[in-house]
Amino acid sequence: MNAHTSHDMTAQNTHEHDDTANSNNHLNNDWQHTLAQPIEVGGIGVHSGRFIEVILHPAPADHGIVFERSDVSDCDSIIPATIEFAVPHDLCTRIENKDGVGVNTIEHFMAAFHGMGIDNLRIEIDGPEMPILDGSATPIFNLLKRAGLTRQDKRRHVITILKEVEVDMGDGVMAKLSPADSLEIDVSIQFDDQLIGQQSISYTNNSQAFIDELADARTFCMLRDVEAMRNSGLARGGSLDNALVVHNGAVLNEGGLRTTDEFVRHKTLDCLGDLFLLGMAIKARLTASKPGHALSTNLLKTLMNTPDAFHIEGRGSASDHGQWAYPETAVAAHS
Ligand SMILES: [Zn+2]
Repeated sequence: MNAHTSHDMTAQNTHEHDDTANSNNHLNNDWQHTLAQPIEVGGIGVHSGRFIEVILHPAPADHGIVFERSDVSDCDSIIPATIEFAVPHDLCTRIENKDGVGVNTIEHFMAAFHGMGIDNLRIEIDGPEMPILDGSATPIFNLLKRAGLTRQDKRRHVITILKEVEVDMGDGVMAKLSPADSLEIDVSIQFDDQLIGQQSISYTNNSQAFIDELADARTFCMLRDVEAMRNSGLARGGSLDNALVVHNGAVLNEGGLRTTDEFVRHKTLDCLGDLFLLGMAIKARLTASKPGHALSTNLLKTLMNTPDAFHIEGRGSASDHGQWAYPETAVAAHS
């Protein structure tokens, strides 16, 4: 049940651009980017257990990241990856449209887009969940890098924070956004298992830091939770090939951890992915304690409901300076 990427076999046919995430820091680049060519990826959905095929297509400037369910024909199959479409889900980030059509487990792909500075994509998917691959973002990064990025003729829109916004969900679960000149993420986690214990990390987002510090951190769960998830119809595709499984101070995975703090790095990866539901870049310091997807979406919805807490640098292109507004334009463009 090894996840695979369908382009692994065709690597020799793809080309490297100088303009790739590794050679440039796209987040410090003012211009929007999309993929230079479509890419296909297939793999198991960790919760559904289904084999899913996905095609990531280049998309025009100001399109945003938009999913399209190719297996749905009798109702609306389009789901923009923005906070308005995020709905509560226990263990992953789910987006869903008004017809109840959605996609689960988008967060690791969203993290890779955010980390690499990819603004616009149309993502065709033939099922309800993105492939889990190896549980990290490295296979996604490699695919995107091989495809290459194209600079577009419109400037990025950037949210800046004007005053602190905080959500506290109790039991030490809290997050806040405060003003900063770039995207900085401070995450701390606390788990009973001695292997994890207390871990924290400070991350500053750029494409090099993304690949060096976050991309290869895998998703994880406790062995005791696996049975409960299965009983709830979740984690049907979960295995030691796509998640770290922790039990009594050790991981069951052959080869062990990639870094001792792989757990907090993965939680930071999830935060980075969820932040991209803003539909644009953000300059802010995110401080998160015991984060999860419910906390992230709660924080972003709170931010959106606090108009005096943020400003959007809607710079537009030279020809239509400042024409962009959040979120009406983005939603209207896809509905
Ligand atoms: Zn994750």
